[in-house]
Amino acid sequence: MRRQRRKVSACGAERARTTGRTASVLIIDTVSHISMLAAMATSAGHPGRVNEDFVGAVPGAVVLLDGAGIPGAESLCRHGVAWYTHRLGGTLLGRLSRGGAQSLVSVLADAIDQVAGEHRSTCDLADPSSPQATVALLRVDSERADYLMLADSHLLLGATTGECPKVVTDVREVAVRRECTARLEGLEAGSRDHQVALDACKQEFRSRRNQPGGYWIAKDDPQAAEEAVTGAVPLAGLTDVALLSNGVTRLVDPYGLATWSTLLDRCRTDGPGAVLEELRRHEADISEPSDDATVAYSTLRQVPTPV
Ligand SMILES: [Zn+2]
Repeated sequence: MRRQRRKVSACGAERARTTGRTASVLIIDTVSHISMLAAMATSAGHPGRVNEDFVGAVPGAVVLLDGAGIPGAESLCRHGVAWYTHRLGGTLLGRLSRGGAQSLVSVLADAIDQVAGEHRSTCDLADPSSPQATVALLRVDSERADYLMLADSHLLLGATTGECPKVVTDVREVAVRRECTARLEGLEAGSRDHQVALDACKQEFRSRRNQPGGYWIAKDDPQAAEEAVTGAVPLAGLTDVALLSNGVTRLVDPYGLATWSTLLDRCRTDGPGAVLEELRRHEADISEPSDDATVAYSTLRQVPTPV
């Protein structure tokens, strides 16, 4: 039994290496005098299936999206969820690379509208189950870091004081899901009552998507951008930043293998790739189905101004 667990663990590590992709980009902005080293890693959750997460960086900005794979979406959109996340991610990077003072809300609203326009004539975008994605954006200039979070990805902001990182997320998707699944409590899985309640749960969750009182996610409606969680922190007190999709925040909840502080520390010391390998090893050990998982970790430093 022990030998078998070791074998599965080794297999999990191998899978992480073969399905994961890592990249590092060093960006020195000579205008704002900021050095940003962005290290990124992403891992498909299902062997043989395309990764529906997207991550990328341009000078001064990082984008991380997590595509929501909803059964039935294939019949609504001929392009698929991965196409949507990569199209929206590429559009966001293109717009952020131009610089300028446009708000992140406005950048996201324009990008949602642009991508919706690319397939509205061929696909049923009005259906609540058409392709959609969570959004995490970070943009830095010489004085501050702006962020935008839509749905359940996480942002960790490391402080120069050494205190615990500030954690930012949009809690509404998880809260609505919890409310919907409450009706399943006490019902035996597989029973008729459980199935009826499960169907009702799915219908309620679907009906509260991109609706007031529900939760918001990037899809076809630019209005969703207005509902994002946004903020800014002074660059002077900031050491580093991590954007995390919900496939990797499992290390904190529910697995309990890390805290937000130790997760950010692991990014610092070993990098995002090591974080994902630890995640996949654990999931192989406990035979837990994995999800697409992505980390974008950035260090921020002031570049000395030439005299
Ligand atoms: Zn489409």
